[in-house]
Amino acid sequence: MKDKTPHPKKSLGQNFLQDPNIIRKIVKAIQPRSDETIVEIGPGRGAITSYLAGKCRDLILIEFDQDLADALKEEYEADRHVRIIRDDILKTDWKDFLPADKVVGNLPYNISSQILFTLYSHAPEVGEAVFMVQKEFARRLVAEPSTKDYGIMTILTRLYGKAEILFHIPPTVFFPRPKVDSTLVKIRLDPDKNRDIDDKAFFHQLVRTAFNQRRKTLRNSLKKITEDQPMLSVDLSLRAEALTFEDFKRLYHILK
Ligand code: SAM
Repeated sequence: MKDKTPHPKKSLGQNFLQDPNIIRKIVKAIQPRSDETIVEIGPGRGAITSYLAGKCRDLILIEFDQDLADALKEEYEADRHVRIIRDDILKTDWKDFLPADKVVGNLPYNISSQILFTLYSHAPEVGEAVFMVQKEFARRLVAEPSTKDYGIMTILTRLYGKAEILFHIPPTVFFPRPKVDSTLVKIRLDPDKNRDIDDKAFFHQLVRTAFNQRRKTLRNSLKKITEDQPMLSVDLSLRAEALTFEDFKRLYHILK
């Protein structure tokens, strides 16, 4: 694709993939199929895009950078299966392009959490996500209780689906090189999972409140929510990080 952006913009997390072998490995993990709708967040200069176009039924590209979006429009002008939305992925209305079989992308790392929260709020309309994220962030999605990576992101990922680490990627395959290692993750979203948690907003509030003061015991951090009710099957002398996902579910049902 013709590049009209003189300098990659750090503020937009622009680290472009350069290595064709890695790009092919990412596309293999995405496994585009001819009957699928795929959404790509931050297509940039089209490194992954060029391997997806023509391999799926519909391809929707959401790019914030005006110059890059213009170049993509020019590139895919004749392809009626490719649609380009020039917008901020955090502000655009996802209803405009969902449902989708897959949402993919080499994400701008500074907004990865917000993108995942938005994805989860649309979980029933997405089959799976394949994202490149910062390695430390990926660890949070699959962390075990009582580890430093375990937190809100871990629990919410379990609430909506299941994350899997596919492989790690060194800074050398990007231009410019980021200061961190990257990881490709797959998140399978399952609309039938945890249907018993019908008030997702309350579950989110519970998890956030518990982890926002993660050094405190649950008795203290959840005081306002529990109103000192005795938690028969959950030990309130523990900290949030010691609770499994199932413990959080139990807590939710007791309080609901
Ligand atoms: N997919 C390309 C690649 O792998 O080479 C570019 C990936 S680069 C890490 C992130 C891309 O996301 C950039 O193209 C950037 O302009 C775009 N971007 C940054 N913030 C965005 C936002 N809020 N909404 C949509 N796209 C965004």
